[in-house]
Amino acid sequence: MDITDIGTNFDTHLCELNNCFENVLPESIETNALWICNKCKKKYSPKEMTEKETLIEQDLEKSNSSIHDLEEFLKRTENKLHYNHRLMVKAKVILINSYHNLQNKKDLQRKGDLCDSVLKVFDVHYPGYSEIRGRILFEQAPSQFILLQMDFQEQTVPLEDFKKMLINLCSKLEDCLMCLHGQGRLILK
Ligand SMILES: [Zn+2]
Repeated sequence: MDITDIGTNFDTHLCELNNCFENVLPESIETNALWICNKCKKKYSPKEMTEKETLIEQDLEKSNSSIHDLEEFLKRTENKLHYNHRLMVKAKVILINSYHNLQNKKDLQRKGDLCDSVLKVFDVHYPGYSEIRGRILFEQAPSQFILLQMDFQEQTVPLEDFKKMLINLCSKLEDCLMCLHGQGRLILK
């Protein structure tokens, strides 16, 4: 494991000095290494980073499964943690599960985007047909289908594009089935 967690930034903080907001990472993989900002080079102690993370984790726990609170948590935290940080991903996964029985396009779109965002991280951390990918695809596919159906009924999508999107959706569902059946495929990176 490297300091960027194979480029996913699963532990990357953001620099809060003078609205810098650049990535802050440990200087080395040693557990007591100092953390340093990529841009302004400000250094942070590991204790400081652990305390910051604990506070953010407690903040997330208060959000329960409320869509409003989770969205507010993501907004509040977007200048503190990298968007792929494990706590941001955790908040997004809870949010994905909280967005259900959706009726409007904005929410359907939001759910789909959240799924895309966490799938990118899971593709690296859990390559192949992992159960967690299956669960996200399972959440994403129905909302994408409803959205597609709405667009088609409103005649904003030409028939040919509609067909292509349906085929794409079918392959996502096949992917989802493979994941849920636990037919693991080992991918060596
Ligand atoms: Zn900085």
